[in-house]
Amino acid sequence: MRIVVKFGTSTLTAGTAKLNPRAMLELARQIVQAREGGAEVIVVSSGAQAAGRERLGVLRAQQPPGMAYKQMLAAVGQSHLMRAWERVFGLFEVEVAQVLLTRADLGDRRRYLNARDAIEAILDQRIVPIINENDAVVTEEIKVGDNDNLSALVTNLMAADLLLMLTDQEGLFTADPRRDPQAQLVARVEAITDATYAMAGTSRTGLGTGGMMTKLQAAELAVRSGASAVIASGTRPEVIAQVAAGQAVGTLFAPSVTRVEARKRWILAERPAGVIVVDDGAARALGRGKSLLAVGAREIRGTFDRGEVVAIHNLKDRPIGLGIVRYASDIAARALGKQSAALARLLGEGADPILVHADDLALIVG
Ligand code: GLU
Repeated sequence: MRIVVKFGTSTLTAGTAKLNPRAMLELARQIVQAREGGAEVIVVSSGAQAAGRERLGVLRAQQPPGMAYKQMLAAVGQSHLMRAWERVFGLFEVEVAQVLLTRADLGDRRRYLNARDAIEAILDQRIVPIINENDAVVTEEIKVGDNDNLSALVTNLMAADLLLMLTDQEGLFTADPRRDPQAQLVARVEAITDATYAMAGTSRTGLGTGGMMTKLQAAELAVRSGASAVIASGTRPEVIAQVAAGQAVGTLFAPSVTRVEARKRWILAERPAGVIVVDDGAARALGRGKSLLAVGAREIRGTFDRGEVVAIHNLKDRPIGLGIVRYASDIAARALGKQSAALARLLGEGADPILVHADDLALIVG
């Protein structure tokens, strides 16, 4: 199970103006425990600007307005934040790795794959990736703006099973619990609708960073990519272990599609960068749910990179599907029709015989 855990600033500071090492130590301990139980954990950590204010002795109320000042605070605070994480994870002999992203890194296909590969490599080494928005360099156009939505994008990027957003509230309530004593915690949300947003006293289209609205937006994004999402309190004892074990904690949002379905929908919505024409045997195999092997490909058209979506045509040149290709067009062209042994001579031992994996393939029914 792969989990993205998002900590808001209030969780990391325990509601104060400073990073709270004790709170962070407890979160690190729970993450280490979840990993020992077999989970892969990716952290999305806020707190850079708060740490910057702490370092410079700036009170939030006195903070000058403007983006540049916030960028400066984040630039000062990010290294301090990472040092705090390094210190607490270090007690468990677990390494951490900083990854700073912006929307632009996730919007462009090549950068998207690059970020994914980097985080995969970090996880492979059993290192905890700690992700934040690259606040120091963002502009209005390229920023995600809040770490709830960033954590949902990371959930999608890394095909995680679960997004856990830890905050200073128990979850989503039927009304604002600070004002309405009748307000009840919603344990499970099957489908996120306007009524769900109304419970949080907000609308889908409102503005604002943090708070319940961005959490609902993030949950919506996560469930549409086939993950579950949970909003729970960061101070609840053993919260990460409980959620990882599937216990009912906070508010759970059920996935609206399976991950494979979500991926296929996404593929079908892409504009293909090229065409791979396949022979009849390969076309039949694809219909039976198999992957497209280099040996079954006859012709490559267009210029594409590894990871781009291509159309797959049969020998009559009719499209039979769309899929994510594993080789760039120049290599794919040389691999055409090659069996494993010939492919190994061309690309080296252990060369992948698959051009498009069955999981990355959406067939066009026609
Ligand atoms: N990236 C911001 C920070 O680290 C936090 C954004 C958020 O909390 O949503 O200060």
